[in-house]
Amino acid sequence: MSLRQSLESLRDAFPRTDETQPALFVGHGNPMNAIEDNAYSAAWERLGEDLPTPKAILCVSAHWETRGTKLTAMERPETIHDFGAFPPELFAVQYPAPGSPELARLTQASLTKTSAELAHDWGLDHGTWSVLARMFPAATIPVVQLSLDRTEAPEFHYALGEELRELRQRGVLVIGSGNIVHNLRLARFDSGPAADWATEFDATVKAQILSGDHAPLINYERLGESARLAIPTNEHYLPLLYVLGLQNHGESISFFSERIDLRSISMTSVRVG
Ligand code: ZN
Repeated sequence: MSLRQSLESLRDAFPRTDETQPALFVGHGNPMNAIEDNAYSAAWERLGEDLPTPKAILCVSAHWETRGTKLTAMERPETIHDFGAFPPELFAVQYPAPGSPELARLTQASLTKTSAELAHDWGLDHGTWSVLARMFPAATIPVVQLSLDRTEAPEFHYALGEELRELRQRGVLVIGSGNIVHNLRLARFDSGPAADWATEFDATVKAQILSGDHAPLINYERLGESARLAIPTNEHYLPLLYVLGLQNHGESISFFSERIDLRSISMTSVRVG
């Protein structure tokens, strides 16, 4: 089969539909949200009920960082418990959604400015399953993960998101899973108020998203001291840039889970479309 024919058959497997899938940035926060009943897990459950049922899900998780971009391409991705000191109930969670080698290959074939490698050495990490276990608890919708290439600058991740736009017309729900403000070193496990700089940066990002001008969000390092504290390392922030890259011109934006947790983790989540 030629490369061209092969791409056509992959497109046939994900035909264009009249309905454009939304794109979501989900603040995942504490892995316990997967099994606790709180405002975040309730919001994820509501979304799962309200969203048009996707044919497949492509998730960019903060917790899969690689050299080069990778896509999970296995038929049956394993549930990865990629965290330390949490209760056995959390380790017992399985999210047995099927993979979709076809979506992995279609995504790979959709990229023109860069390339992605198919991977068989990962699965679904908690950035993906802690959210999906509540959003789509039946685990019947196929899921593919896209990794974060650690060698690339923020504009690369935004541009890669732009290249995924067409998937939204083919029934694919693209999710970025991270946190806009994520500073574990300054987190406090009490119910104290949010840090001022966390509230400030969260508000700056929301206002900038609403303005539709994404350049300052790509160049977040120029957003001052609050940005420096909010993004000590950028793996939880970068999934947001994919989702902003997925926004079509003039498309609606809404927010959910707008709260700062543990003083320095913003749960603010974004729905595009
Ligand atoms: Zn995380």
